[in-house]
Amino acid sequence: MKIPVLYYHKIDYPKKNAVYKGLYVTPKQFKRQMLLLRFLGYKTVTPKDVLAFVKGHKPPARKPLLITFDDGYENNYLNAYPVLKEAGFSSLIFISTGFIGKKNAVSDERESVPEDFLNKSEIKSMFNEGFFIGSHGINHYYLDGLEEGVLIGELIASKAYLESILETSIDFFSYPFGAYNADVMRAVKKAGYLGAFTTVRGKIGVGDNSYELKRISVNGYNNIFNFLYKIIFLQ
Ligand SMILES: [Zn+2]
Repeated sequence: MKIPVLYYHKIDYPKKNAVYKGLYVTPKQFKRQMLLLRFLGYKTVTPKDVLAFVKGHKPPARKPLLITFDDGYENNYLNAYPVLKEAGFSSLIFISTGFIGKKNAVSDERESVPEDFLNKSEIKSMFNEGFFIGSHGINHYYLDGLEEGVLIGELIASKAYLESILETSIDFFSYPFGAYNADVMRAVKKAGYLGAFTTVRGKIGVGDNSYELKRISVNGYNNIFNFLYKIIFLQ
């Protein structure tokens, strides 16, 4: 048995001039996907359950699933959160802390279209409803090309900031752009995170490295059959 960890970015209708249209999954698509997962009997587990599974513990559900979001877009709160709650699912949202509360900002220099980002109170209300918050660094840098001091700052200050807002420990990280190497993994561990998620495609298995956790991307080009294939057949 393996655990699928899905990752999304934007739950919204694609903006006209967006370069990376695939990052948008429409609210309609998203709802259909969540209803399908519920119908199939999937139950969302906590990030710590996933970590325990990697180390050989049995997951608390027969069909465990973790749903994650990267970057911290406000559309996650507006368009995904109500659907997830309705389906009885939780999720893990990775936030780039430098963009918290920013309107019309660009977190990725490759993308010309600006977006609105989650503000503190939206993050808090999702957390208070049982959603999980992780760090995606401060500035959404490629961490594998950074000078050590800047790298440590990205890891430690983003963690500390989220911990100060939520008064809880922030234990999970996702690598911006999926960029990491052995030094970055070591630094993430040293900064106090218990695990980190990549963009390497696949499901999570027993014995996997906690700082190199695989995920399955869901993008706007996936129809319901592609989606089903990823959930059921992809290893
Ligand atoms: Zn990102």
